[in-house]
Formats: sequence, structure tokens, C-alpha cells
Amino acid sequence: MKTFGLDEKVKILGEAAQYDLCGACGVTVPRKRNPQGGWIYPAVLPDGRTANLLKVLLSNHCIHNCYYCAHREGKAGGSSTRFVPEELARLFISLYQKGMVRGLFLSSAVDRNPFRTMEDMLKTTEILRRRYRFPGYIHLKILPESTPDYIETALHLATRVSINLEAPGPGYLKAIAPQKNFENIWRKFILLRDYSRRGLAPRAGFTTQLVVGGSDESDREIMQTISLLYQDFSMTRAYYSAFHPVPGTPLSEREPVSTWREHRLYQADFLLRRYGFQREELVFDGKGNLPVETDPKTLWASKHPELFPLEVNTASYSLLLRIPGIGPVCAKRITRARKETLLTTLESLQKIGVRTGHAAPFLLLAGKRIQKPEQLSLFGKRAEFAATG
Ligand code: SF4
Repeated sequence: MKTFGLDEKVKILGEAAQYDLCGACGVTVPRKRNPQGGWIYPAVLPDGRTANLLKVLLSNHCIHNCYYCAHREGKAGGSSTRFVPEELARLFISLYQKGMVRGLFLSSAVDRNPFRTMEDMLKTTEILRRRYRFPGYIHLKILPESTPDYIETALHLATRVSINLEAPGPGYLKAIAPQKNFENIWRKFILLRDYSRRGLAPRAGFTTQLVVGGSDESDREIMQTISLLYQDFSMTRAYYSAFHPVPGTPLSEREPVSTWREHRLYQADFLLRRYGFQREELVFDGKGNLPVETDPKTLWASKHPELFPLEVNTASYSLLLRIPGIGPVCAKRITRARKETLLTTLESLQKIGVRTGHAAPFLLLAGKRIQKPEQLSLFGKRAEFAATG
């Protein structure tokens, strides 16, 4: 392995970390290079505040051969390097003390062997917590081969942990990552759940990530697996990454997956996590995929004419959430606002933040439907409306 200086290492390993989404904390944001050559990502932390994270791999030298991955064993070209724990901990603390970062996202390729890699990631985290007394956000990747001891230590040290599932079932995972074992990864989720039941859970929970369309899995299968993780394992959230072929990999000839598919999966995921939808309520096409032309909530609403239009002034919070264009924040604002006044105009809803172009066909305002129905389209653009009798 070639020797690199610290600046080069941060550049190489910061750039390599871009493929891991779990540290993005739910927002897609532009990355910027800091003056020291590292990679800093503004991210929304679990407490809702935005903070800069140093997002980096411990190593990009891998003994695995995942077909979609730029870092796989025997990759053509590119530079391989690794941090030693002391070095990475010192680098992070110097950025933290300068006020350039407030948290760390640490992942790694499987360098030499998974146990050594996991040990080095844990060592880095331990130095930060114990020696430097760093109290802030640390997101730590858990490698699927980790032993229960490693996982327990990770849960003590990290604010959030993640284990990448990559695919929704064993066959699909084998097709894109032959050395990874679905059952083995699933056993780690079971371990996390067991620890959590015994009171040992990371403050900000655990997450996972899937490559979408790397094999022939359907959105329905993805949502089945993910909803199980939400329901039975109390997973915090999932991240979806539309497959994009990397030159020089075994899947380089495979068609890229539309980011619309990824977007619809995120929307469906929100319905499960934040809107009280059950997986069985999601609407899929004949191939088991979420239609890309329409967002999943509008599609669901259009299939339930028996429920709509809903009276905004009396509908329960959970029913308000079923109206397209109304999310949890707006639904709460509506329930507060209607204690003070009768909501009679779309303008009043717009002020609250409701996306009235989406919502109008599905609601009543003080018993009145919306004027100019010809302008209303389930799939159309935003338009201005007034309540009418
Ligand atoms: S384990 Fe697979 S996905 Fe992770 S770095 Fe190695 S080849 Fe890439």
C-alpha cells in the first residue's frame, strides 16, 4: 500500500465515504472541502439541529468484492489507504477544536479482516470519548461480521450506529455482494434489538442502507423488509441509494436506476414512519414497484374516494395526515389553528404551510368543496382555489 500524507488520506477517505448515505441524517446537502483537505457535510442531527460532520472511512482497502462498489477487492486504479486510530482521532479533535465540525461519521471498507477493522473503528471512537472527552455526535458503522462484544462496545460509544443491509433478501444480496450474508446481517439486527430490550441502545438509534435496483428486487419487497425493521426492531430510519454503475465493476454495464424510484421509496418510507401508514396500504404497480408518476400518498388517496373529501375543521390528526399536501407539522398547526377560528379558505391553509395544490381535491372547508374543480388534478400543478358551497 502506497504511503500518503495526512492531507491526502483525508481527501481519499473522505471522498470514498460519499457512497455511504447513512451519515447524511436525512438530508441531501452539498459537500464542501475544508481548508485541511478533509470532507465536511452539513447534516441534520437527530435533535433537529444542523451541524457539520466529518464523514470519512477508516480505510478504503477492501477484501470483499461487492459488484457495485468502487472500493472492492482488486479494483482497477484508485488509491488505497487507511488511518490508524490515533491519527484519525487527533485529526477529528483538531477540526472540532477549531469549530469546523461538531460530529463524526465513521465507516470503513473491510480492510485485511473485519475484526481488525471493527477494532480500529472502535479504538478511534474510544480515544475520542475517553481521552479527548468528546461528548458530541458519532455515527459508527457496524460491520456485519462483528461479534456481540464489538457491538456492545459500539452501543456504549456511539450516538448512532448503522448496519448496511444493501438488499431486501438473501438472493438479491448474493447477486450484488457474494461475500455478504443476509442471515448474518439480520442476526445483527436481532442482537441490536436484544440489547435495546436490555436497555442498551444508542441515543439516536440505528439505521440501514439499501442499494436500489442493483439486482431485480421490487419496491414491494424493499418495503416489506424495511417495514419489518421499523415495526419489530424499532429501526430509526432507512436510506435508499439508486444503483448507479461504477466503471470497472462487474455491474458496470447495468442500467442506472432512476433517482425517481429512490425518491418514491423515500416518500413511501415517510408514510410508514411518520404518517401512520401500514405497509399493506402502499399502492404498487403490476411489477410490485411504486409508480413513479404519482407520489404514494396521492395515489393512496385517489384509491379511497370513500374517505374524501375530509372536513379540515373536524378531521382527527391521523386523518388530516391522510390528506395529500398535509404533513405532521401542518396537521399539528391545523389542530391548533382551528381551536381559535373556523378555517374557511385555502389561503388560511397556505399560511399554515399546506400544499394546497395537492390538498384541495381532498378536503372540505367548513362544509364547502373547492371552486373551479376543472383546475383540480391529482397529478397537476399547484393552483389557487377558493372554498365554495
Ligand atoms: S464491503 Fe463491499 S461495499 Fe463495503 S467497501 Fe468492501 S466491496 Fe465496497
